[in-house]
Amino acid sequence: MAFEKSLDIIKSAQRSNTSVFSVNCIDYNTIAGVIRAAEATQTPVLVQLYPEHSSLNKTIDFEGFASTVKRLASEVKVAIGLHLDHCYTYEEIRRAADAGFTSVMYDASTLPTEENAAKTKVIVDEMHARGVAVEGEIGHVGLAAEDSGSDLDLYTKPDVAKMFYEASGVDALAIAIGNAHGFYKGTPHLDIDRLDQIHAATGDLALVLHGGSGIPDDQLEVAFARGINKFNYGTNYLWAYYRAIASFVKEHESEAYTDVLGLAIPTQDALCEHMTDRFKLCHFK
Ligand SMILES: [Zn+2]
Repeated sequence: MAFEKSLDIIKSAQRSNTSVFSVNCIDYNTIAGVIRAAEATQTPVLVQLYPEHSSLNKTIDFEGFASTVKRLASEVKVAIGLHLDHCYTYEEIRRAADAGFTSVMYDASTLPTEENAAKTKVIVDEMHARGVAVEGEIGHVGLAAEDSGSDLDLYTKPDVAKMFYEASGVDALAIAIGNAHGFYKGTPHLDIDRLDQIHAATGDLALVLHGGSGIPDDQLEVAFARGINKFNYGTNYLWAYYRAIASFVKEHESEAYTDVLGLAIPTQDALCEHMTDRFKLCHFK
């Protein structure tokens, strides 16, 4: 049984002075691909669901996601966690906790800081009573396509991060230091000085980096060694999935409809290969 609480895995990343990947998955193939790569490289990982992939895109429901992760985790030795990504409603967070997610992100980062902290604390108190860890966000990680990653007003301020941590009691905190969601237009540059200041101000709090696809590896290595303990990875993983499906369809054009049955294995192989390469950035001791 290698299903472990997310917070235990994040703490183990902290002790190793590295970061755990938290990978956005949407269905059986994406879950299987990342868990196979984790086992092959003995790299602990969090498997995360973005609620809108369920509610809007209908790729999977919370309960099916949780049971698939737990089932596949039970077949490997490496530690596998289950996390709910950016969630904006208490109702969905409760549903995730009911389904067995052991950590959730409550994102009220578009609200004024005090309101964000107050609303986050409500869910922290409720989730802690159930043994579920909570990630909050301060500053705002925008969309790379809108180039919002370069707006300094949205970067996390160290004193505000400290105040938010103390007021909300979160277990992990997503920060904005030049990162953004989606594909970047140019090369992003993480503000490592700011990361150092936030890390110094928040002590043993686990800091989280979102918008991980496209940040150069050398910058990630530095960030992981200096306070980032959870790293959200989605865009490039889903892009690898898309490419694997597209090349399969191209190879099998005009053949029998039963060929679709052959799609799962090569796409899982491609996803496993992709994550096996990415896991080189993790240095668990
Ligand atoms: Zn995010």
